[in-house]
Amino acid sequence: MTVSTCVSAAKNGRILIVGATGFIGRFVAEASLDAGQPTYVLIRPGPLDPSKADIIKSLKDRGAIILHGVISDKALMEKLLREHEIEVVISAVGGTTILDQIILVEAIQAVGTIKRFLPSEFGHDVDRADPVEPGLTMYLEKRQVRRCVEKSGVPYTYICCNSIASWPYFDNKHPSEVLPPLDQFQIYGDGSVKAYFIDGADIGKFTMKTVDDIRTMNKNVHFRPPSNLYDINGLASLWEKKIGRTLPRVTITEDDLLTIAAENRIPESIVASFTHDIFIKGCQVNFPVDGPHDVEIGTLYPEESFRTLDECFNDFLLKLEDEQELEKNKVSTKTTAVVEPRAVTATCA
Ligand code: NDP
Repeated sequence: MTVSTCVSAAKNGRILIVGATGFIGRFVAEASLDAGQPTYVLIRPGPLDPSKADIIKSLKDRGAIILHGVISDKALMEKLLREHEIEVVISAVGGTTILDQIILVEAIQAVGTIKRFLPSEFGHDVDRADPVEPGLTMYLEKRQVRRCVEKSGVPYTYICCNSIASWPYFDNKHPSEVLPPLDQFQIYGDGSVKAYFIDGADIGKFTMKTVDDIRTMNKNVHFRPPSNLYDINGLASLWEKKIGRTLPRVTITEDDLLTIAAENRIPESIVASFTHDIFIKGCQVNFPVDGPHDVEIGTLYPEESFRTLDECFNDFLLKLEDEQELEKNKVSTKTTAVVEPRAVTATCA
């Protein structure tokens, strides 16, 4: 008889996602809905910009239940968690409100029925990575949240999904929203340090797999698919192959990155300090995944594949072609627009 090691902690349990209007949180909320989980999303009260209103509408149309509140309101969070019988809480709050999660943990602990908490991690193993400031401050805060979760006794999972699949610009915290370079590549150091680049949808999909898996309870879950391991020279060559031409490469040295980090411009300097940690110091690859609290996601779900970086770069190529088509249409409309007024002027005269 085969005994499943994948004991259900909360199969089809109610999931609350905090930060679903954000960059990473949206991938998680969509994956939760894709997985057919009863999905609740916490939205901060107040005016919404149109793009966030669109995200909320699309999640709601797909069946998400919208709750309003902020995680720094302990009494409200306790009430919401109890009233809606939430079993799993996933937080994807951004860098400026990491410490608010301590109050959320207190609420979760007080309620006592939450089977799993995933704090806002979604990057490196913050106990191992050691960026310079100002990135270090964010990691110190994430570490503080980890210690608080561990002390609370609430079962947890830390998602260490490494980099998002995209060109890793040193000054953009959401690089997958931007096309890879079309003029020149900026290569960090000698361009030979490797990193893992994961599609946003896969970050969501695999995060959802961990929430009811006993094997990920109280573990750091590392995303290391071999098909997504590239150094920046390899990344540049991949993009050159897609666009069918070569681009000049300029070097951004370790000192350049440290200088930008030291300027303390937020968020650019934070991103520069992480870029330094990844592409100069090798923080994603300079340790084995073999500690008692470590597990690699590919070993848990060997039957599930990741979208390769090659496929992700095909998406960028399609986006580029769409943008070029749009630009062409704009030019031809402009040309028509220029011609038309002249014709009208001529008629009037
Ligand atoms: P965003 O800033 O894009 O989104 C943050 C979300 O959290 C928003 O929905 C925001 O709501 C919500 N939020 C913030 N504070 C509160 C609060 N107190 N109560 C309720 N909701 C709140 O964050 P990111 O997606 O950039 O970052 C999320 C995590 O992912 C971070 O830990 C970050 O370090 C990591 N990350 C990883 C990346 C990678 O490449 N691996 C890339 C980017 C981020 P509102 O809409 O009201 O602002």
